Amino acid sequence: MSGGFAAKESPVTGQTLPLDERLYAYLLETSLRESPTLKKLREQTAKTAQASLQIAPEQGQLMALLVRLMRAKRTLEIGVFTGYSALVTAAALPADGLLVACDISEPWTRIARGYWEEAGVANKIDLRLGPAAETLQALSDDGQDGSFDFAFIDADKSEYDNYYELCLRLIRSGGLIAFDNTLWDGTVADPGVTDRDTEALRRLNLKLRDDARIDLSLVPIGDGLTLALKR
Ligand code: SAM
Ligand code: CA
Repeated sequence: MSGGFAAKESPVTGQTLPLDERLYAYLLETSLRESPTLKKLREQTAKTAQASLQIAPEQGQLMALLVRLMRAKRTLEIGVFTGYSALVTAAALPADGLLVACDISEPWTRIARGYWEEAGVANKIDLRLGPAAETLQALSDDGQDGSFDFAFIDADKSEYDNYYELCLRLIRSGGLIAFDNTLWDGTVADPGVTDRDTEALRRLNLKLRDDARIDLSLVPIGDGLTLALKR
């Protein structure tokens, strides 16, 4: 095809538009609705050396929208850190909703608790300190399989597959599992990168592609967010 219109289009039909800084700023300016508490939490976390562990704010907004869309009441989070993703998703739950939040870090989650209190969502969040695999297994042993609507996996990458299998049991049919960082700063597509976390994410991405137990979309938001809908 020739002509100005075609020349503006992506070389691959319908390929996702790359976001440069200006366009990303526009996206935030025209769509981000961040509560004052979330904004404060993001700004405080940005001052720490671990700032990049926090999800992007527009990703939090998408996750909250999904939680609302599903009318989710019971959710799981694996990897809390200073509490941004838990806060944004818990705020999307109804008053009698519950988020079981798993982390191993007392200092990080102490910060999270403060913000959950401030935002008025602390009563919806059950924080379990300890290895997430043990917490998830304990929920399953307690007869809670099939009782959750949504799970967000964002802890140690080498354990994602284990968390996936545990969450798949714990969520209901029609429930959603969201995996963070599945594009891993682009390194998953770079054969020269072979560290343990990158390899684990690569294996997981291929496993999910071929997994008949789920429907799937890898959304290129933030660092890559894979959505897996349990059939
Ligand atoms: N979702 C958070 C957010 O949006 O701000 C970021 C989570 S951060 C990337 C990963 C978290 O996983 C850290 O707080 C870390 O303490 C926690 N973590 C690491 N290994 C874990 C394990 N085995 N069990 C539970 N939590 C773990
Ligand atoms: Ca993450």
